[in-house]
This record gives sequence, structure tokens and C-alpha cells, in this order.
Amino acid sequence: MLNLIIFGAPGAGKGTQAELIAKKYKLTHLSSGDLLRQELENGALGKKIKRYQDSGRLVPDSLIIEMMENAVIKKIKSAGFIFDGYPRTIRQAEALTKFFKNKKIQLTAVLNLQLTEKEAEKRILLRSQVSGRSDDNIKTIKNRFKVYRAQTAPLLKYYRTQEKLITIDGRPAIKDVFKEISAIIKEIK
Ligand code: AMP
Repeated sequence: MLNLIIFGAPGAGKGTQAELIAKKYKLTHLSSGDLLRQELENGALGKKIKRYQDSGRLVPDSLIIEMMENAVIKKIKSAGFIFDGYPRTIRQAEALTKFFKNKKIQLTAVLNLQLTEKEAEKRILLRSQVSGRSDDNIKTIKNRFKVYRAQTAPLLKYYRTQEKLITIDGRPAIKDVFKEISAIIKEIK
């Protein structure tokens, strides 16, 4: 089983790379942001989620942890998973470690896509022209970076300590980053 987390600041290319990896290695792609966006039509819960997303804040840990665990259980027979956008807080990471232990799932690696905020911001603004995402605007982006620095970046140390962290240069073109990731997966598989 190959179980990966794709990690990085907003706009680093997590979603794009996760999709390519999932296709090549037949993994279940679990994007927390996409799963939340699918809930937007869902009455009161949808309204609550939209408020968090539009301000760039994280939705509460308990909500997202339950959502992700259910998504894994639904696909438990899968050849492996790639988590995209999850975990994003230490509490989420600890919950995932515990959940994996319970389910006897081994985390293979955390792929950290590295990009400066300036470069990532440029990409999100480009994406905003086609994404239709209400949180791809300059004000929300700034807050998403702030949240990333305060709540998500500490996970780098968490996974470094667990010797799971692999950092990849996120600057090259999509296909070149993917080549690099494929080479790494070949080594660790
Ligand atoms: P993303 O599509 O990964 O950029 O996520 C978009 C928004 O969804 C974030 O700004 C958060 O409001 C919310 N979100 C996505 N993943 C998480 C998570 N793991 N924990 C809390 N909120 C999340």
C-alpha cells in the first residue's frame, strides 16, 4: 500500500500533483477542500463551511477529522491514499496518526511542495480566473497564508521528527515536478 500526504502552502500545486499521482499509482485522492466544497449545497452545514472558507480560516478540527475518516472508511479497499489539504493542524495530524494505527495503515511519506508565498500568490491569482472559487481573491489569500504559517507549517517539524518528510521544489513546470515526485516514489515504494 502506498499512502501519501501532499503538503504545502496554498497555491503550491498540491491538488494538481495529487491528481496526477492518484492516477498513475491508482490511489484514492482525498482532497479536504474538495470534500468541503461538495458540502456547500448542504443546508446549515454548507453555510457554516462557506463562512470559514470565504474568510480563509480553517473549519473546526472535529468536523474535518470526522469527514476525512469517513472518506477513508468508504474506500478502505483502495490500493492506497493520497491526502491533499489534510492534515492542516497538529490536532488533525495526531488524529490521523491514531486513525492509521487503528486501521493498520502505514503512512509512506509526506511530500512537501516548496514555493515562496510570492510565487504561490501569483499562481492562485491566475487560478482565480478559472477556478470559480470564492476564496481565490487577494484578501482571502493573504489570510490563508497567515493561517498556513501559524497552524499548518508546524506540521513540517511533526513529520520531520517521524522521518516522513520529503521536500520537493515546487517551482518547475507541472510535468517536471511530477517527474521528480515519480522518481521519489519509485525509490520509497
Ligand atoms: P483548499 O482547497 O485545500 O485550499 O481548502 C480551502 C479551504 O477549505 C481552506 O481555506 C479551509 O477553510 C478549508 N479546509 C480545507 N482543508 C481543511 C482542513 N484540513 N482543515 C480545516 N479547514 C480546511
